[in-house]
Order: sequence, then structure tokens, then C-alpha cells
Amino acid sequence: MGSSLCERPEPRRTFLQAMKASFWKKRRQSKSLRLQTIKKKRERGICLTPNCRKMARKQKRYCNTCRSRMYDNPLKVLFWNLKKSAKRRGKEFALAFEDFKNMAVKSGYDLLHGRGASDLHVDRIDASQGYVPGNVQVITASENTRKSWTDRTGWTPPHLRQSNEPF
Ligand SMILES: [Zn+2]
Repeated sequence: MGSSLCERPEPRRTFLQAMKASFWKKRRQSKSLRLQTIKKKRERGICLTPNCRKMARKQKRYCNTCRSRMYDNPLKVLFWNLKKSAKRRGKEFALAFEDFKNMAVKSGYDLLHGRGASDLHVDRIDASQGYVPGNVQVITASENTRKSWTDRTGWTPPHLRQSNEPF
């Protein structure tokens, strides 16, 4: 093979690359917008919780209401975050806080959640359904990755083949 004169030049950008670029552009824009809002709120001394317009406590970023909600109820914060992320991704969310609390405490999700491979995730057992009672379980992040690979492609990458039991 080698290069010859009649060889077609590579397309400058593939469709996938263009999609990726536009995704990251949008992501950057929304992030900068959020940062601007946060900057303005901090200058004016307003609580940084989205949609909260109370004055923040002195020398602090959040108002008393939001601070007490955060520090008194770490489980509620997890629950709100899960609900928020479900909403953002357009998934149905019908879990009651009590259901979530029982699951989280039983499985250790409240202490061991995170982003590492061995940290815990809340998983939808049937990916076509939302976060509804009976369709959620707590599994490790690596197990979750393996599951989503297998669901989408029917094939499991070798490095993910070792499976862990769900809690
Ligand atoms: Zn607040």
C-alpha cells in the first residue's frame, strides 16, 4: 500500500468526532453558566443551593436551612442526588425515601458510595424501567459497568468478567 497520489484524503472529522466535540462544547458552556451563577451568588452572599434565594450564613456558602438539611441528613442528600440524576437522564423515579433509606443502610451504600470501581452504585435491575420499587439494587461500580456492557452488546469485556453478587 503506502501513500500514492490517487489516495483519498482522510475526512477532516468523522461524524462521531463532531458529535463528541459538540457534546463537550455544550458541557463547557453549561458548566461556565453554572459557575457564573455561583460566582454572582457568592458575591451577593446568597445560598448556593440551586433555586434557593436565602442569604447564606456569614462566612459560609449555604443558608441555615440548606446547611442543616445537608449535615443532618446525609441520606436525604444521597436520595435527592439520585432523584436529580434520574430526572436529568429522563428516567422515571417513584422511590419513596423510606425504601431508599432501608436499601442504603442495609447494603452500606450510605458509607461506601462513590466513583471508584469497588464503590457502590444504585442500579436499575431492568434498564428499560426507571427507579421504581422492586427495580433497584445496590451493586459495585465494576459490576454495574459489566452489566451495562452485557445489556447493550451481549458481550462482556474480559477485564469485567468476574462478577460480584449484588447486595
Ligand atoms: Zn439555601
